Amino acid sequence: MQVFDRIGGDDYEQVVFCHHRASGLRAIIAIHSTCLGPALGGTRFYPYAGEDEALEDVLRLARGMTYKAAAAGLDLGGGKAVILGDPARLRSEALIRAYARFVDSLGGRYVTAEDVGTTQADMDLIRRETRHVTGVSRALGGSGDPSAATAYGVLYAMKAVARHLWGSTGLEDRHVVVSGVGKVGYGLVRHLVEERARVTVSDLAAAAVERAVRDFVVESVPPEKAHAVECDLFSPCALGAVINRDTIPELRCAAIVGSANNQLQDGGCAELIEQAGVLYAPDFVVNAGGIVNIAEELIGYHRERAYASVRRIFDTTSAVIAEAASLGITTAEAANRMAERRLAEVGRIQLIRTVSRRGNP
Ligand code: NAD
Repeated sequence: MQVFDRIGGDDYEQVVFCHHRASGLRAIIAIHSTCLGPALGGTRFYPYAGEDEALEDVLRLARGMTYKAAAAGLDLGGGKAVILGDPARLRSEALIRAYARFVDSLGGRYVTAEDVGTTQADMDLIRRETRHVTGVSRALGGSGDPSAATAYGVLYAMKAVARHLWGSTGLEDRHVVVSGVGKVGYGLVRHLVEERARVTVSDLAAAAVERAVRDFVVESVPPEKAHAVECDLFSPCALGAVINRDTIPELRCAAIVGSANNQLQDGGCAELIEQAGVLYAPDFVVNAGGIVNIAEELIGYHRERAYASVRRIFDTTSAVIAEAASLGITTAEAANRMAERRLAEVGRIQLIRTVSRRGNP
């Protein structure tokens, strides 16, 4: 990969390659934008097939974080990190702490968090080397696992969609299919059952389905059929790219509102969903609850305040739907524009010189 061509194309600020022979650490930290604040994003620990794949992943994810934070109204930029290798074989205290020292060396330009392959215990280890980490355990003053807040945010996005489609935020008797009942999906099912919605669950892991069916007395459907169930809301809460050219013609829902990242296989799918008469609530707007919750750690975590902020996903989702309707664009495009507008408008205030920030007159 021609690194400068690639990072220049999407205007990345900084990409840092970290190496520590003794612990076997090979990591890449990508900072896409610090226009709105420190670049916050998780550390993914994954056995990539090669360096190009790792670099592409970290770049794509970092840019996504810029949009997610901007659309959520946070004073945060977008960044992400990857540690190359199999966490089951490579993880050690020395490796995690060596990585943490590289995070620290960025002086707060990048703030890390949990992601695929890293755990809260890793964040607690990272905290021993740097304060630029979030999602540490509650005992260390952190907010803990963000998935509960993410599920709560998805619920409020659903309420916004319900009000738009049916004139009321209530979900009683609405049929919701939740595909993927892991950390977020399971929490979401709990909320939906409390709202008296009718819920159908699905998961590749039989144990996950059994747990949800047992705990909430809901129906289940095989994972390959979940998107095709006739329902009010389809909620992808597993992996990305579930909305693609094969699944779109089979959709039988009024709207898609889920936590999974990168739900659309490609940009063209947004148009196809609309033509199919299905409303799509953009993933990075819907699933921002986790980052909104984590951002509260930076100012001193307070759960009530954090959850009040998460509820604002209702307003953001409503605004995206309204803008798409008034401009005749897809909701995905409206969400992108909302993020880009905030980056341009709020980012511009940095042109005002302040003494305290620069430390010179
Ligand atoms: P998780 O690993 O706890 O749960 C994912 C579940 O999906 C698992 O039970 C898995 O068996 C199931 N699954 C995998 N492939 C599937 C398939 N093809 N069909 C049906 N089920 C399948 O992950 P999570 O933390 O609950 O996150 C779910 C999604 O939400 C991910 O895309 C994640 O990136 C996204 N997300 C999570 C958070 C968070 O706070 N955890 C925040 C933002 C976005």
